[in-house]
Amino acid sequence: MTARIIDGKAAAAALRADVASEVAKFRVATGRVPGLAVVLVGEDPASAVYVRNKGKATREAGMLSFEHKLPAEISEGKLVDLIEELNTDPAVDGILVQLPLPGHIDPDQVLLAIDPDKDVDGFHPINVGRLATGLNGFVPCTPLGCLKLLRAELGDLSGKEAVVIGRSNIVGKPMAQLLLGDSCTVTIAHSRTRDLPEVVRRADIVVAAVGRPEMVKGDWLKPGAAVIDVGINRIAGEGGNSHLTGDVDFTSASAVAGAITPVPGGVGPMTIACLIRNTLVSAARRDSFALDP
Ligand code: NDP
Repeated sequence: MTARIIDGKAAAAALRADVASEVAKFRVATGRVPGLAVVLVGEDPASAVYVRNKGKATREAGMLSFEHKLPAEISEGKLVDLIEELNTDPAVDGILVQLPLPGHIDPDQVLLAIDPDKDVDGFHPINVGRLATGLNGFVPCTPLGCLKLLRAELGDLSGKEAVVIGRSNIVGKPMAQLLLGDSCTVTIAHSRTRDLPEVVRRADIVVAAVGRPEMVKGDWLKPGAAVIDVGINRIAGEGGNSHLTGDVDFTSASAVAGAITPVPGGVGPMTIACLIRNTLVSAARRDSFALDP
C-alpha cells in the first residue's frame, strides 16, 4: 500500500482563504478590524521566524498584527505589565506570547496573565478546562490543525482507535481531548509507555508528537492507519546544511499507512492557519458577530 499524502499546505491555504473572506464580512458588519498581538522575548532565531510568519499570515487575512519585540533581559513584571495593557486594549482580539521564554521568566505566570478570552493559543488553564469539559474556549492551534486534517481525511472519527504519542500541554494532551471529543477511543503514550510499537499497532489514527526524528517505523503501524506527524526535527547535514524531518519514518510508514502527513508541509502550515482562525473567532465573540460554521 502507498499512503495518500495529506496536503497540509493546501488545507491551510483553504482555511486561510476562508478566514480572509469572513474577516472581510466582519469588517463591513462591525467597522472594526480583528487584531492579533504577538510578543517575542529575546533573539531566539527559530522563534523570530515563527513570529514573522504569524504576522505575515495575520496581515494576509486582512487583520492587524501588533508585534512586540522585547529584550531577553526584560523582567517578568514588565512582561506581565505589557500583557495587562493588551488585555484591555480594544483593538487586540488575540494575544500570543511566543515560547520558549528566557529562563528567568516563569511561563506559567505569563500565561496566567493573559485574558482567557484573548488567549488564542489556548494555553491558559481556563481554556484547558473548557476543552476538557466541552465548553467553548480556545483550542491550541497545533492539535486543532491535526483534528481538522483528520476530519477532512476520514470524515466521522467516532469509534476509531487513536494513539497519541506525547503528553505535552501544547500538543499531546489537548490532541487527546479533541479526539475524545470526536468519540475516538484514545490512548496517550509517552516515554514510560511499555512496548510502544504494540500500542501503536492497534491504532486507526496515530498522532506522533515526540520530538525524536523518525522514531515511529512502518512496522509499528496497522495497515491503512492515518498518521499525523507533528514532529519538527532539524537534522544537520554536511557543509552546514540542514533539513527538517518528522517523528515518523516517512519512507517505511508511507508503505503501510492509509494516509500520512509529510514534514514539512503537513501539520506545520495548519498551526498558523488555526491561529488566525482563533483570532477571528475571538473578534466575532467580542462583537457578537455570527461566523459561518
Ligand atoms: P515535548 O518535548 O514537550 O513532549 C514530548 C513528548 O514525547 C513527552 O510527552 C515525552 O514523554 C514523549 N516522549 C519522548 N521520548 C519518547 C519515547 N522514546 N517514546 C515515547 N514518548 C516519548 O514536545 P512537544 O509536545 O512540544 O512537541 C513534540 C514535537 O512536535 C516536537 O518535535 C516539536 O518540535 C513539534 N511541534 C510541532 C508543531 C507544529 O506546528 N508542527 C508545534 C509544536 C510542536 P514524557 O512526558 O514521558 O517525557
